[in-house]
Amino acid sequence: MVETDIKGGLVLVCADDPGGTSSVNEQDDRYISVLADVPMLEPSNCQEMKDMTKEAFNIAEEIHLPVFLRTVNTVNLSRGDLIFGKLGVPRRRGEIKGVPISFDRTRCHANILNKMEKAKELSEKSEFNRVITFNGIKAGKRIGVVASSICISYAEEIIGELGVETELLALGFTNPLPEKLCQDFISRFDELVIVEELSPFLETQFLKMAHEISAKTKIWGKETGHFPKAGQYRLETVAEPLAKVFGMDNPMPRQKGAKIALAARSLTNCPGCPHRNTYYAIKQVVPEDAIFANDQGCYLLGGLEPYRMSHAQYSMGASIGLACGFRQATGKPAIAFIGDSTFFHNGMSPLANAVHHNYDITVVVMDNGATAMSGFQLHPGTDRDAMCREAVPIKIEDVVRGLGATFVEVVNPNKIEETKEVFQRAIAHKGVSVVVSKALCKLMETREKRGKGLEIPAYEIDQEICNQCKVCIDVYGCPAFYEVADKIYIDDVQCTGCGVCQEVCPVGAITEKGAENG
Ligand code: SF4
Ligand code: SF4
Repeated sequence: MVETDIKGGLVLVCADDPGGTSSVNEQDDRYISVLADVPMLEPSNCQEMKDMTKEAFNIAEEIHLPVFLRTVNTVNLSRGDLIFGKLGVPRRRGEIKGVPISFDRTRCHANILNKMEKAKELSEKSEFNRVITFNGIKAGKRIGVVASSICISYAEEIIGELGVETELLALGFTNPLPEKLCQDFISRFDELVIVEELSPFLETQFLKMAHEISAKTKIWGKETGHFPKAGQYRLETVAEPLAKVFGMDNPMPRQKGAKIALAARSLTNCPGCPHRNTYYAIKQVVPEDAIFANDQGCYLLGGLEPYRMSHAQYSMGASIGLACGFRQATGKPAIAFIGDSTFFHNGMSPLANAVHHNYDITVVVMDNGATAMSGFQLHPGTDRDAMCREAVPIKIEDVVRGLGATFVEVVNPNKIEETKEVFQRAIAHKGVSVVVSKALCKLMETREKRGKGLEIPAYEIDQEICNQCKVCIDVYGCPAFYEVADKIYIDDVQCTGCGVCQEVCPVGAITEKGAENG
């Protein structure tokens, strides 16, 4: 893509997740912009998010390279007022001109390097790279601060609290860096503090630039042990080391919280989630030595307590290929879990391969009709397209049959006994067996019901019948159950009224509130 001499603007948005709040890792994707030779902008607030997007398109059109807009979750989740400018050029139609394929790789590479030189000139002039002065600069030891992304906002606030005389080099156009601006900044200070989340991306380049101009400036950052390389930064993460470099007390010492006895809880699916029922049912019938390959979605929580049904989970769509490998390598029963959205995204090719090679695996497609974990995006199995127009949903079971699988069953996981029976047959089947475990995401179902004014039933435990076996908590794991003084209760606020726990309780102690007994 980078080698293609693109004419229209192309902006790639990459949302990094320091802290891994909703990702499987907290990798620092700023290095991809360097590796791929694409310019990178990093917004530090909502306004810059909007302004930089526009600027990124302008840069892409000017130098004919894609532009990387790299954000982090704290910026993505922030809210604020926006100032809109005038609309730019009127909407245009795209045109495809010529065939941009060349086999002269050296010429292509040299072309990209030239474009990156132009990008450096733009970075040098960019309004997103700026120096902010705080309280003037006095004589004596001069300490400056460099920051990017959300750390610009943190640094501004902490410098304000410290009330020190300093300057902050706020960098928004971070690949390529504005070398002249940075070297000029380095040369004006005795010491610099670099504030950035994750890897020492800026710090390493500042060390190099300082060396190139033979500056004696001391650079404090991650390599000096002042800032952590892992984890999401908060104000407090930045406050202490920044104050230390300025020889001042931490303006934001950690407050000791009030002591509240909270129950220890693992991450878990929502109350009433059909994925819990799928895991519960399969756990009852699966051989003890089975190996589970999981995938990306809410259902990966099945890898945690009380199910612990995930020996591996990597990228989207990897579970089916992993299960094939596990089966071949170990000869043990291998089960792949994959969601409906992930199946359409990247599950069909490995399934075709599994069928073609007749691998002896069971694939469980956890079809809850939603891309629930990442915000309910639509996919080819939903009845709306990406523009929210009516669309014909593609049935996963039809696709699976089309790929040649012969054992294909659709179950409602909210019916535990029926689901167990299907899984028993699927695991015993020789070759690829596919079970589509289909029930709407409980969040969506509850919203729909509330929207239609339908009543959501409530459930309670008959304390005369309950024997405190705790199957509902320890084995089934619905978070709506809680224990007080050796008695088990259902929290009305959390309970979504699915009623599945009635099938789970071995002594029939759970009843619908207001329902007549017998
Ligand atoms: S499973 Fe039934 S009997 Fe056991 S603790 Fe829960 S409600 Fe009580
Ligand atoms: S009905 Fe039972 S399983 Fe369903 S949400 Fe309520 S407590 Fe949980």
